Amino acid sequence: MPELEGQVAIVTGAARGIGLAIVTELADTGADLILVDSLPTDAAAAAVAERGGTAVQVRVDVTDRPAFRSALEGAIAARGRVDVLVNNAGVVSTRGFAELGDDEWDRVLAVNLTAAFVSTQSVWSRMVAQRHGRLVYIGSRAARTGGNNAGPAYVASKGGIQALVIAAAKEGAPHGILANGVAPGPIRTEMTQLASYQDESQATPLGRMGRPEEIAAAVRFLCSPAASFLTGTVLNVSGGAVMG
Ligand code: NDP
Repeated sequence: MPELEGQVAIVTGAARGIGLAIVTELADTGADLILVDSLPTDAAAAAVAERGGTAVQVRVDVTDRPAFRSALEGAIAARGRVDVLVNNAGVVSTRGFAELGDDEWDRVLAVNLTAAFVSTQSVWSRMVAQRHGRLVYIGSRAARTGGNNAGPAYVASKGGIQALVIAAAKEGAPHGILANGVAPGPIRTEMTQLASYQDESQATPLGRMGRPEEIAAAVRFLCSPAASFLTGTVLNVSGGAVMG
């Protein structure tokens, strides 16, 4: 039997890039999906249907807290359960201290960090009642290295994600809720179209950028029965850009 058969998984930022790859990977495990994005998620829904699963598409800006909360609560109620939450939606910000405006700081923190808190709250009571849940947060190597061409808003938001993983793991453990993160290195997506690699072979010690599927494989592992004793950890999937 596929490992997540009968389970329901939410993925934010599901329309493209790493989120789309995560959706595809989780659909392969037999999970049904709740797809969240401000963009249409038709490609993700088609990937789920091709694998025999069902998908609910939720088009919402995750920074609109009341709308995001009520959309998630509605989708979870319709499904009757929620087993997995993958907080993946994110935006990059490259402006340094001298140029970064208050609006951009607020927006980046709202998408990358606050939305992950809001979604965690939205699934919490259901996971506690089920005594089962897997929370996965997509961070970034930037939280530990400053990243490549990342500004303070992005770096701080991803540092916050690392800390949120620990908070969720600690509070969730007595309830059977496991929380972990994945910190990607440079991955070839629309977000990194403008990344300033003169020579991609310098991007990581492995001599290349990563593929979205390589992040999705780590997320699948964290959601699987094989990761049943793993909580409070952030996996560096970075081609060696972060070691140790
Ligand atoms: P993409 O920009 O390709 O995809 C991000 C998705 O999130 C888009 O569909 C985007 O839609 C959606 N999204 C952004 N803001 C919101 C919002 N306010 N409400 C709803 N949806 C939103 O990025 P990646 O796939 O590359 O990145 C995914 C995650 O991985 C992010 O958290 C990123 O920080 C992280 N990451 C990526 C790395 C990389 O090298 N690519 C490296 C390290 C971490 P829209 O266009 O409408 O905003």
